Amino acid sequence: MKITYKTPIVEMQGDEMTRILWDMIKDVLIEPYVALNTEFYDLGLPHREETADEVTRAAADAVKRLGVGVKCATITPNAARVSEYGLSQMWLSPNGTIRAALDGTVFRAPIMVKGITPYIPSWTKPITIARHAYGDVYKNSEIRVDGAAECALDVKYADGRTERKPIITLDGAGIIQGVHNKDASIRSFARSCFNYALDTKQNVWFGAKDTISKIYDHRFKDIFAEVYDAEYKTKFAELGINYEYSLIDDSVARVVRSGGGFIWALKNYDGDVMSDMVATAFGSLAMMTSVLVSPDGKYEYEAAHGTVTRHYYRHLKGEETSTNPVATIFAWTGALRRRGVTEGNAALTAFADRLERACLTAIERGVMTGDLVPLFKADGVTARSVSSREFLKAIAAELENA
Ligand code: NAP
Ligand code: MG
Repeated sequence: MKITYKTPIVEMQGDEMTRILWDMIKDVLIEPYVALNTEFYDLGLPHREETADEVTRAAADAVKRLGVGVKCATITPNAARVSEYGLSQMWLSPNGTIRAALDGTVFRAPIMVKGITPYIPSWTKPITIARHAYGDVYKNSEIRVDGAAECALDVKYADGRTERKPIITLDGAGIIQGVHNKDASIRSFARSCFNYALDTKQNVWFGAKDTISKIYDHRFKDIFAEVYDAEYKTKFAELGINYEYSLIDDSVARVVRSGGGFIWALKNYDGDVMSDMVATAFGSLAMMTSVLVSPDGKYEYEAAHGTVTRHYYRHLKGEETSTNPVATIFAWTGALRRRGVTEGNAALTAFADRLERACLTAIERGVMTGDLVPLFKADGVTARSVSSREFLKAIAAELENA
């Protein structure tokens, strides 16, 4: 008897090698056990072109409506893709469109497995990075000033009031920059972080530079504190988790000394920089999951890597590739587990746990895709590189054993 559930999951198919893996994963690991009930959207680039990207907007709306989605990696078009696919326009990044529609925050966490040790060996539990994906230097306005000049910040309110603050009187050429953020966006970010913490029972650490930036960064600190005190403090206490603010430099030092197992909330730039550091330290982008969480608790799961184009071209030539499907499998298990939670469906959450365990067990026994072989070291186990197809079969065998 296959496991059933009531409310559909939004399924977003994607591009290239991950598109191929997507169907294999469903065939071999999910559909034999779960009666999949999905609302299907093909976000593959040819279909985005055919629908003038309407399909992406519809998929985003579906995630808002149904609350749980799973997405395959997709191509973000650039000039080369426009000619490769004969696009009528350089369509926007699907992830950007979905994130904007859900006003969500992306949480990235490594998948940890015995035999693959992080570069910082004390990190025995995953560190989940939450990057605020709005504003600051990513939506800035910059001027290269080419001679002596008075530079100021100028505010004209909608009601006619004005405010002006000098930046600097330059005595020669220089550069200036204006950045902004919105209270509403910071508040949504805070809520997404606290919701995800409740969901995964992890502490939240947030760091900024409020000692230097006494208005701008201080506003982040204040909004986090307000939202936490008013809406989350009691719920956190019930679960025995907490929220801590510290200066960003202090935060970085504490993260390095930590054992992992918390959510690290970061401003846009800090998150950009630190997520690459954390991902590298944990070993492989192919073992990194990503989930978009909206402030009102909608979840969209995916792998952190792209469509693995180089492997796809080899696949098109008829070669069997050894492309790592683990992050995409974990996107599926994330979505199925979440649906299990929203419907109180213990069989579904247990299946998600079992499938994840089966992936890790296969690797722990030495069966893995080529990217993991150089990272793997375990006494008495020799790492063997297999094709994606053989790897999925090995996981299926573990699933049958369980
Ligand atoms: P990528 O697809 O992540 O692949 C870069 C390289 O990393 C691969 O060539 C491969 O190295 C290795 N790799 C990544 N994932 C792997 C996996 N699962 N198994 C084994 N190796 C893996 O990044 P990209 O080549 O820069 O981007 C390709 C396309 O993906 C682009 O069109 C981009 O727009 C899109 N993209 C989409 C998303 C998303 O939808 N979330 C995110 C990023 C990029 P080797 O070739 O050395 O084996
Ligand atoms: Mg970066």
